[in-house]
Amino acid sequence: MIERRALKVAIIGAGMSGICMAVKLQDAGITSFTIFEKAADVGGTWRDNTYPGLTCDVPSRYYSFSFRPNPTWSHLLPPGPEIQRYFQQVAGERGLLPHIRFGCDVTKAVYDDGRWRLTTDQGEETFDVVVTATGVLRVPRYPDIPGRDMFAGPSFHSARWDHSITLPDKRIGLIGTGSTGVQITAALGGAVRGLKIFQRSAQWIYPMPNPRYSKLTQAALSRWPALNRVPYRFWGKVFRSYFGRAPILPGWQRRLAQAECRWNLRLSVRDPELRAKLTPGYQPMCKRQVMAGHFYRSVQKPGVEVITDPIDHIESRGVVTAGGTLHELDLLVFATGFDARAYVRPMEVIGEGGLRLDDAWADGPIAYRSIAAPGFPNLFMMMGPHSPIGNQSLIPIAEDQADYVIWWIKQLRDGRVRAAAPTEEATKRYNADMKAAMPQTIWVTGCKSWYLGKDGLPELFPWTPETYHDLLRAPQLTDFDVRTA
Ligand code: NAP
Repeated sequence: MIERRALKVAIIGAGMSGICMAVKLQDAGITSFTIFEKAADVGGTWRDNTYPGLTCDVPSRYYSFSFRPNPTWSHLLPPGPEIQRYFQQVAGERGLLPHIRFGCDVTKAVYDDGRWRLTTDQGEETFDVVVTATGVLRVPRYPDIPGRDMFAGPSFHSARWDHSITLPDKRIGLIGTGSTGVQITAALGGAVRGLKIFQRSAQWIYPMPNPRYSKLTQAALSRWPALNRVPYRFWGKVFRSYFGRAPILPGWQRRLAQAECRWNLRLSVRDPELRAKLTPGYQPMCKRQVMAGHFYRSVQKPGVEVITDPIDHIESRGVVTAGGTLHELDLLVFATGFDARAYVRPMEVIGEGGLRLDDAWADGPIAYRSIAAPGFPNLFMMMGPHSPIGNQSLIPIAEDQADYVIWWIKQLRDGRVRAAAPTEEATKRYNADMKAAMPQTIWVTGCKSWYLGKDGLPELFPWTPETYHDLLRAPQLTDFDVRTA
């Protein structure tokens, strides 16, 4: 007879994957969980990023929980605040709010005597299982440019937008042309006094249309909820079979996606000088592919300038480029990305025998199937190292990961298992297999990107999204160090 334990589960982070994990726990009948959230609201990246032009670049029908379609998405690629509202709604509807400790930052997690002791800024508490749902691109990265703090006007990172500042009357300097910089440009080009885009590397832009959904569509999908499955499956299929394959395998998907990017540039930018500036020196999809509809149009609007001279330094009046040209500005925005290696850190994590996560990850973050790491029993990660996070919807990935974690949590709850962590050997083998598969990916063809780790290899999942789904279908017990009793 199974003797169920009243397991205490801690989820760290109330963003998309923390909400997903909590809902799956509820569905498994486990309600003794606490979600620690250092901010004052749910939503993670959609709460933190509020810059003008913020949209999702994966169709909303597929960027939704499978268990909670949203019939009233306004667009194929909805604006950020709408996505944030969606996560707030799901958290509210599912009764998660009483489980969330807002404004509570977990600073340390120590595995001690078979349990995890969490230290927060409000005290200490012990849990049986910890699930980190802290996101991937969370810690802003500021550029290492001399004089960065000398600028006299307002300046901030794209993920810390200061909405108290009016924009139309400003000469704005934008450093960075990744997905964020491109979306900001699309929104501000032609709408402000001046926009100077400081471009270190040009980006290929995949032409992504963004149609609005009609009231009729919204009404039909609200009236017959089962209909929502159709676009969810359609967009899932498109994204998995096209953008899920193009970067990892040579084939027609890659050739076609690359051609679409090249044609997009050729057809959208007629001025040869500007086109030359905007032509990257690497293959499309080598960096995380930017998907956007309006960038090229905005970049050609009056008052917008693309500056390709390298930045020499920043001074009080603006940005000085090589050769000594001063670009005078009223506002400076750093769209310079995130520390993609932070994962759960700066939280300090100490596993069995005093093993520190920082030491285990000294050569770069590694995990077993992105979910768990040797030496850290009963600690699971959402969107951990090498998750398939390229141009895919992270929501189905989070759902697969949560289902996998739930399987282990049920074993723990039912007393079949006391502690489980992947073995060192299985983790090494998994990571060696991934490394061996990297050379066929587009990510190693000669560009710099946040995908690349210390060893120059991408820290991404190098196989198809379906492969990842299959890997998480059922735990392979021989890959785990499982303790019973
Ligand atoms: P990013 O892709 O890392 O781009 C950072 C940009 O800053 C690059 O253009 C980089 O130039 C430039 N940069 C960095 N340091 C610089 C320096 N010292 N001097 C000059 N330029 C510098 O960051 P991101 O645009 O914030 O995007 C990060 C990721 O967030 C995306 O790849 C995507 O996964 C996610 N995202 C998703 C969406 C969405 O709609 N789903 C929207 C925004 C972001 P180099 O290219 O030369 O390095």
